[in-house]
Amino acid sequence: MTELLSNYLGGRWQAGSGAGTPLFDPVLGTELVRVDATGLDLPGGFAFARGQGGRALRALGYRQRGELLAAVAKVLQANRDAYYEISTANSGTTRADTGIDVDGAIYTLGTYARLAAGLPDGRFLPDGEALPLAKDGSFATRHVQVPADGLALFINAFNFPSWGLWEKAAPALLSGVPVVVKPATATAWLTQRMVKDVVDAGVLPAGALSIVCGGSAGLLDALAPQDVLSFTGSAETAAILRGHPAVTRHSVRVNVEADSVNSALLMPDAAPGTPAFDLFVKELAREMTQKSGQKCTAIRRAFVPAAHYGAVAQAVGARLAKTVVGNPRNEAVRMGSLVSRAQLAAVREGMDALRGAAQVLHDGAAVALVDADPGIACCVGPTLFGLATPEAVRAGSVVHEVEVFGPAATLLPYADLPQAVAQVARGQGSLVASLYGDDAPLLARTALQLAPLHGRVHVVSPACAATHTGHGNVMPQSLHGGPGRAGGGAELGGLRALDFYHRRVAIQGAPETLNAL
Ligand code: NAP
Repeated sequence: MTELLSNYLGGRWQAGSGAGTPLFDPVLGTELVRVDATGLDLPGGFAFARGQGGRALRALGYRQRGELLAAVAKVLQANRDAYYEISTANSGTTRADTGIDVDGAIYTLGTYARLAAGLPDGRFLPDGEALPLAKDGSFATRHVQVPADGLALFINAFNFPSWGLWEKAAPALLSGVPVVVKPATATAWLTQRMVKDVVDAGVLPAGALSIVCGGSAGLLDALAPQDVLSFTGSAETAAILRGHPAVTRHSVRVNVEADSVNSALLMPDAAPGTPAFDLFVKELAREMTQKSGQKCTAIRRAFVPAAHYGAVAQAVGARLAKTVVGNPRNEAVRMGSLVSRAQLAAVREGMDALRGAAQVLHDGAAVALVDADPGIACCVGPTLFGLATPEAVRAGSVVHEVEVFGPAATLLPYADLPQAVAQVARGQGSLVASLYGDDAPLLARTALQLAPLHGRVHVVSPACAATHTGHGNVMPQSLHGGPGRAGGGAELGGLRALDFYHRRVAIQGAPETLNAL
């Protein structure tokens, strides 16, 4: 039997009482560890987090809590090698793809630690000036933001076991709100190990950080009115969580990052041979293959002027053909595996749906794997689909609706820019759209047209060719989230992330009282 990982709840390590769910190496097929949460006292553990953890965090000011984040980042940095090994074993990632998850987390923690230095060192965040409510000025109202008096429960997705925890925990802990994380079971090992290292290092107050691995049973029932819930995963699960009796009864604040059929748009001026064209091709191929396409922000629909459809297909196909797929332990390999057999089946099913609705411009189905057994490894080659005409793009629905959470995208020609913008909107709300061109006024106008349906619009022109941060790369300084299908959530965006973990309150009184806050 493999090791059963413990949960950290109520200020102590506790093993579940069940046999556990095994976690696998998706490349070799071997069992790695097991996780289980059966029999845990969740209400007791949550009460400990709110009481001990929350009180201890809120006894500190924002700047001191920023120092805690810096200390957490230091612990993670010191154990980074172990995280790379776990990620390769449990997520099948290459070193570069592990870096996005692990180093992205450390960078995000460091960013929030630095942002904390600019915050007031008090117990609340001011929100505007006091406004008089009496003609003689003897009575006024002042708005402040106070940390939520509960805990933050994170229910996370399988694709970012490291970043998915810390991008949420950094603003929560900085706000003074204790964290309970329930990682996705398939890749829970890395999250558990990171929490273990931070707990063992003793850098956070008891109860500030807890982890429950394995099943989700009972987690939502343990929520109380001041708690917040942040979820990343499928739209179906999001709907279940939103409708959970404890969430509706207590009006628990919920943030959802769900699935998204993100777009990239090659602008009409970006003809073959221009720098913007090359930037588009490079980014599309990179987005399809990075983390084997398992990024919520990855480009799924690529819109191009109809006249350039063939040239784009050829250029992207040439790049994809060079992608070496297989065992990430082999240095020649550029794209590792999907995280599990379940994901492999889901991706194949999604690709079959696209195959039935579109042409295959570059087929990854028959790719030869390096150092990996095709009967065992959850590897799949990158596949570019396409619809040949703008009319087919307008008539089609599958390509605008199906999110294949793997290395796949669809090339979609447009006749004119208004038509392209209208087709992008058929994603029903996405995390990100990117534009590639060299006409700044047109780029700006188009960005604003796409803005209402996106959390982020990423505009690439030759002026920022070497410095732009990437279509799918989520930077802590920029908002992450999107309307509609993308879940309606908002994370990161620098200090804006703190809003979710605070309550805005109006305090009314005499000016001397308000000044004494
Ligand atoms: P999922 O099934 O919804 O699982 C997500 C998380 O919810 C896991 O921790 C899962 O636990 C848990 N869960 C499942 N059913 C639950 C329930 N009834 N009550 C409480 N928790 C429950 O999602 P998935 O299919 O694994 O994840 C892939 C999806 O996530 C993709 O569609 C992708 O677009 C989306 N995603 C979005 C973002 C973003 O930022 N917008 C980022 C990454 C992924 P178990 O693992 O134990 O089942």
